[in-house]
Amino acid sequence: MSSTRTASADLVVVGGTVYTLDGPRKVNVHVSGGVITSLDEDSGSAGARIVDARGAYVLPGAIDVHVHSRDPGFPEKEDFGTMTAAAAAGGVTTVIDMPNTVPAVDAAGVLEAKSALARRKARVDFGLWGLIRSTSTEEQLQGLAQAGATGFKAYLGYAFNLARKQVLYSPNPGDADLEAPPDYGTLLRLAPAVARLGLPLVIHAEDPSILTAFKRPVETYDELLASRPPEAEAVAILAAAAIASSTGAHLHVAHLSSAAGLKAAESAISAGSPLSLETCPQYLLLSDQDFSRLGTAMKMFPPVRTIADRAALVDGLARGVIAVVATDHAPHADTDKAKTLDEAAAGSPGVQTLYLSCLELAKQLGDVWRAPRWVSEAPAALVGLRESKGAIAPGFDADLVIVDPNRATVVRPALMRSRQRHGALDGLEPGFSIKEVYVRGELVASNGVTRGRASGRMVRPSRAGR
Ligand SMILES: [Zn+2]
Repeated sequence: MSSTRTASADLVVVGGTVYTLDGPRKVNVHVSGGVITSLDEDSGSAGARIVDARGAYVLPGAIDVHVHSRDPGFPEKEDFGTMTAAAAAGGVTTVIDMPNTVPAVDAAGVLEAKSALARRKARVDFGLWGLIRSTSTEEQLQGLAQAGATGFKAYLGYAFNLARKQVLYSPNPGDADLEAPPDYGTLLRLAPAVARLGLPLVIHAEDPSILTAFKRPVETYDELLASRPPEAEAVAILAAAAIASSTGAHLHVAHLSSAAGLKAAESAISAGSPLSLETCPQYLLLSDQDFSRLGTAMKMFPPVRTIADRAALVDGLARGVIAVVATDHAPHADTDKAKTLDEAAAGSPGVQTLYLSCLELAKQLGDVWRAPRWVSEAPAALVGLRESKGAIAPGFDADLVIVDPNRATVVRPALMRSRQRHGALDGLEPGFSIKEVYVRGELVASNGVTRGRASGRMVRPSRAGR
């Protein structure tokens, strides 16, 4: 390796086991100006900051493609500062924020305003999804893409409040100013434009007509599961996959939760549909059996289902059919969760535990190095960042996570940096801990404590294919 390159390094991570494009290697990581310059045996140069990673893993920062910052809109739940503090503490160096903030991100101007707000608070890098409404136009999608949107999200069955510019999960029947939810017709109408823009189309895959048919008051967790049958997921995936297939739009299924949904997706993939799948740690680690322990902390939509569903999803991940693990980080105010099962808000924080839970799961599957593929490599490809993030290699951003593989973490509220501290993974004991986290070479967290100032940047997708 040339000495001129290493001589200019301003940061060198030495002695760790580094997850590289060739797999794990004992190598030193040289960083200059926030970018990785070389991987070699050279142990650094005068003036460089040396990070001692002996006995530790050095992993590419996670890219959580599914978070809800709640900002702007719901400061009592979360904001961009607290969400990215949690991300930093957990080794998530890039977050891609969902568009159902208020005002919803349905046009370029809204995205630009949200980006300006996020830049003032973000401790890690961030991207922004745009929203598809039933009335969205091709011009609006084009504007969002030009403004840097990562792609587009359609919430099947979620209405839109025109006065508040808000996506509504459950509108009251008499609500005025409501716009109809996006449906399969919306997807078919806009998918050709999405395909031309070369960005992913993300769906919340629960068929609204099935949810309506099974809607009921819920007292027990079994009743909650019965009110949201897995067929709702399977049907939505098959319908959207047919549209993706004929239009060429890349369909990304958010938070896959069921064996039936996975089976539907696999049949669509084998028939040639351009489809990628994401699931979340809560669906891979929990089942309905955990409700008696966790209560409403594990209420979310789609719901955590049965042990058989969990096993199918773990198998789909192990086989590589499911490529991406993201969190659907969705905090609420404690008062919104401390209600009956029927009335409690749906959603849990999760961004801080993404890496730890995936490392534990990968270890249980016999190959800990799968974790960076699920949370970093595959997400980078999905959101058009594989030229700059998702790998530890020369030319890539120095988004680095130093992990101690010999010290366990007990997930508990006191460690959490999110505004909502109780989560669905409370009590989990992954056999790893996150020591230090760097975003473009800057230390952003050390042993769970955030460091430095908010200097996160917005990332824009490269259209060079995914
Ligand atoms: Zn979500």
